[in-house]
Amino acid sequence: MKEMWEGGLRLGEGDFSFLEEVRRRSGEHLDLCYQCMKCTAGCPTAPYMDIKPHQLIRMIQMGRRGEVLGSGAIWFCVYCQTCGTRCPNEIHIGVLMDALREMAVGEGVEVKERRIHLLHEAFIQSVRRGGRVHEVTMLMDYVLRSRDLMKDSLGSGVKLFLKGKFPLFPSFVKEREEIRRIFERCTKKQ
Ligand code: SF4
Ligand code: SF4
Repeated sequence: MKEMWEGGLRLGEGDFSFLEEVRRRSGEHLDLCYQCMKCTAGCPTAPYMDIKPHQLIRMIQMGRRGEVLGSGAIWFCVYCQTCGTRCPNEIHIGVLMDALREMAVGEGVEVKERRIHLLHEAFIQSVRRGGRVHEVTMLMDYVLRSRDLMKDSLGSGVKLFLKGKFPLFPSFVKEREEIRRIFERCTKKQ
């Protein structure tokens, strides 16, 4: 009789191309992970994640594509690199999370943490426009995308603006053509 794994998945039922795909896209050697949990113990956003960093790696090894790409956890990583510094096998989960987010969006998976995703979009479009972030237009873009007019984000943004922390007008880098080329290369289909 086949052994039952946690979550109701049986041996041989996972998508085992998933591990290879994630390894190729992230460059991280996930097969080295031996579940010591040092990554999760140090991760500042792990308490908010529905699947903890070490569990995500195990689930990738088991081929649980849908649950991993559809998780909220991949959107809570703030790329602080604590996990990579602590990991005895030098696995950088921040890099992995980036790859997983790209895969989730590319595969049209419904994003669990919609507001975080929209903030990512607004941030990256701000960089795309001027080569650096302009907080005021980024926040306006975020509000338009999310229609989150009454949420904390807008309130905090207005407070910071009134304190002069955010410049009213954007400043652009000189080499905007270079920025355009970088985005073009990065958005080419993999
Ligand atoms: S610290 Fe490294 S080896 Fe330990 S569980 Fe996390 S990823 Fe795996
Ligand atoms: S890089 Fe991401 S997963 Fe790693 S410790 Fe920081 S927030 Fe957690």
